[in-house]
Amino acid sequence: MSIQKNLNHIKENLPKDVTLVAVSKTKPVSDLQEAYDAGQRIFGENKIQEMAEKHELLPKDIEWHMIGHVQRNKVKYMASFVSLIHGVENEKLLIEINKQAAKHNRTIDCLLQIKIADEDSKFGMTEAEATQILQSKTNSDLKHVNIVGVMGMATFTENESQIKTEFIQLKTIFNTLKTLHNNPAQFKTISMGMSGDYPLAIACGSTMVRIGSSIFGVRNY
Ligand SMILES: *Cc1c(COP(=O)(O)O)cnc(C)c1O
Repeated sequence: MSIQKNLNHIKENLPKDVTLVAVSKTKPVSDLQEAYDAGQRIFGENKIQEMAEKHELLPKDIEWHMIGHVQRNKVKYMASFVSLIHGVENEKLLIEINKQAAKHNRTIDCLLQIKIADEDSKFGMTEAEATQILQSKTNSDLKHVNIVGVMGMATFTENESQIKTEFIQLKTIFNTLKTLHNNPAQFKTISMGMSGDYPLAIACGSTMVRIGSSIFGVRNY
């Protein structure tokens, strides 16, 4: 199937209040252009360098999402253009994003990445750490970042009930954090669900899905 057909197929089955992030990591610019021509405007990448290169080459009305692990010393390479950073896993990173955003006179939307998976290889903070960040004095001083929600990745497993439990856990944490947010209306995004599990994620309350291989085909690393 073509990228356009894959996209249309996914969009037909997506509730209209769920945002689709087309995960284009490792894929050539021509593939992204094909998705763009089919109407897609939100792309997700997991390497800052690669995202910056693609941003240079592609139309400027694309919204770029950083979905991967973020190294603090590389935030400066995306601060001028990134729309949403999904992988904020500690306050130090938030402080650096704020500093770099300020240089460009921007406010960057961020999601707190929560560790829901039962795997050491997955990044993210605990609910307690997220609570601490939302309530801290430091956070209220950061004028160039907006914390707009949470992101999580389920365990890589065939066990659907485990994945479901993890998604429900993230939704529950989101609901609690929303009550602590100084501007609850702004806290509205639950980024969960990938090619293999997004229908389940949506059933559990996801508002944003990150889909790569079901749009662009399998990745060759
Ligand atoms: C690669 C990636 C995805 C997309 O994965 P697919 O299984 O190809 O849909 C989603 N989220 C994150 C954080 C990723 O790194």
